[in-house]
Amino acid sequence: MNKFVHRLRSRLYLGARTNGLVADWGYWGTHHFEEMTLKLRYYWRKWVSSRFVPEAEVLKLRFLDSSAMLQTGVASICNAKCVFCAYPKVVAAKTFQPTIMSFEVFKKAIDEWAKAGGKSLDMTWTLGDPLVDPGLLQKVDYAINQAHMEEVGFTTNGILLDRNDTYKKLVDLGINAVFISTPGTNKEVYEKIYGVNKYAEAISGIHHLLEYNHSKGDPVRIVIRYRNAEKPSEILNSPDFIKYVKPYLSGRVLINFTVDYDNWAGTIVKGDMSGVMRMRSLPPQLNLPCQRLFTYAIRHDGSVRLCGCRIKTTDMDDMIVGTIREKSLEEISRSDVVKDIISGFYHGKRPLVCQECTFYTPVNRKWLKSREARHSAMPVS
Ligand code: SF4
Ligand code: SF4
Repeated sequence: MNKFVHRLRSRLYLGARTNGLVADWGYWGTHHFEEMTLKLRYYWRKWVSSRFVPEAEVLKLRFLDSSAMLQTGVASICNAKCVFCAYPKVVAAKTFQPTIMSFEVFKKAIDEWAKAGGKSLDMTWTLGDPLVDPGLLQKVDYAINQAHMEEVGFTTNGILLDRNDTYKKLVDLGINAVFISTPGTNKEVYEKIYGVNKYAEAISGIHHLLEYNHSKGDPVRIVIRYRNAEKPSEILNSPDFIKYVKPYLSGRVLINFTVDYDNWAGTIVKGDMSGVMRMRSLPPQLNLPCQRLFTYAIRHDGSVRLCGCRIKTTDMDDMIVGTIREKSLEEISRSDVVKDIISGFYHGKRPLVCQECTFYTPVNRKWLKSREARHSAMPVS
């Protein structure tokens, strides 16, 4: 029964996602629904879901949650210059340091995470493409086969998937998930949105990964996230999509379209958008901390940053809470630096990157309960 329901659900999902008319309506409708309900969601949070989440209780729940995902950014270098991304701007302004994480730092982070019971790993940094790292395969191998991580994945623009048959090696090593961020299947649009002349490499690499994964029975979960400037139907009806992507879609290989774009804390503005691209509105803010402050990201030099989903101009900002070269992740998670950042939200003080963040998700009763349950299930040290 479960198999049947699962198959039916993925057929319906794929049917809806690959039908141009349905996809266009869904794309348009989702954006407008999100915009229309923004205020409603704010009042729901303010008066219902986020009431009674007192500071003292939330602060007690600072701990390293091994059921979460650890972000270890293997590369903060990118080979694209997307118009909707802060990367080209912060690199041009020289406020961001593009570099590669050494194997030594990576190993230290993963060993510690494994020791704490961590099983899930995202190898993507806030900005950068993991495939740029020449040591990526060694790190994937270590995470899966030595540190026994159960969920290892990353997000890539796919440009370097073909280099040295990387797509094949990733599947063979047993990577669990690859998320591909790409603008579509039109060369001109690609160059305009991704700012580089790499369409041929990207579509070839994506095709090879899908084809090889398919030949092995789809062991890797692949999601192509179109950062589209064209309507979904234009991509779905294009010859390259029909030839290189569509035949491989399944319950494990999915696509979606980006309904709206984040502002990177104010670094990206409406004028950066192109075609059907739209900015996401800023959600009204409550004097409550964001749920993502309870997750950790390891920078290339071992610095630990809270959240890790966005930067404004630099990743060496007021979200840095320590370094694994000096303290364990567990010690950092319970430190006063973390406490002060979380506490600051209750008193109207937020780190710079959180001040204009469209991903802000305040803690609520449900979050509190599930975090308490995970905390009480932890072994006493
Ligand atoms: S969105 Fe990704 S691929 Fe594009 S510039 Fe930013 S980091 Fe690079
Ligand atoms: S407000 Fe944004 S940057 Fe700050 S913790 Fe939440 S998601 Fe991260």
